[in-house]
Amino acid sequence: MNLILMGLPGAGKGTQAEKIVEKYDIPHISTGDMFRLAIKEQTTLGKEAKSYMDKGELVPDEVTIGIVRERLSKPDCEKGFLLDGFPRTIAQAEALENLLSDMETSVNYVLHIDVPQDKLIERLTGRRVCPECGATYHVVFNPPKVEGKCDNEGAELIQREDDQPETVKKRLEVNVEQAQPLLDFYQEKGYLVTFDGDRNIDRVFEDIDKKLGGLVR
Ligand SMILES: [Zn+2]
Repeated sequence: MNLILMGLPGAGKGTQAEKIVEKYDIPHISTGDMFRLAIKEQTTLGKEAKSYMDKGELVPDEVTIGIVRERLSKPDCEKGFLLDGFPRTIAQAEALENLLSDMETSVNYVLHIDVPQDKLIERLTGRRVCPECGATYHVVFNPPKVEGKCDNEGAELIQREDDQPETVKKRLEVNVEQAQPLLDFYQEKGYLVTFDGDRNIDRVFEDIDKKLGGLVR
């Protein structure tokens, strides 16, 4: 099964990815991991990507696509893959279509975990960290025993810059702008399946699992 996972920050993609990978035995391939592996293995494309990254430049699409091709050709992708963070643009999505068609396969589903933005803001701004030991909490979902204090040594918890409401809103906006054309593209292709992510993690996975079960009958 060839899958692409989509969802805004805080939608719970990571958790669902773990569950999908465990049940269906396909690799979870994030863009970052793909680049790190190519660079570590010192493939020609890996070296090329690194030269751009070292200069602080964007890696061009043809290099990125080449790295995706190398990664998807590895033996652990025999049963399929779960792509996460790629594609990011329509050009990359089109290149992926061509690449998979060359490999005589195609995307089965684009799994979109949908959570309303106000809920995402609540999830993302509720995070608190301990400056002493690094423990993380959430004011609603995982509160410390004593409000505002770390359970371990009682240090005053802080809210990171990244988790401040204004920063979170801006980050979500950027992500929405980037994701919408891709969601439209995959909707048109008929791959898009949207799941209500504003529910218990296990309920969300149950629905994903039902959909994927149809592929392995
Ligand atoms: Zn602590």
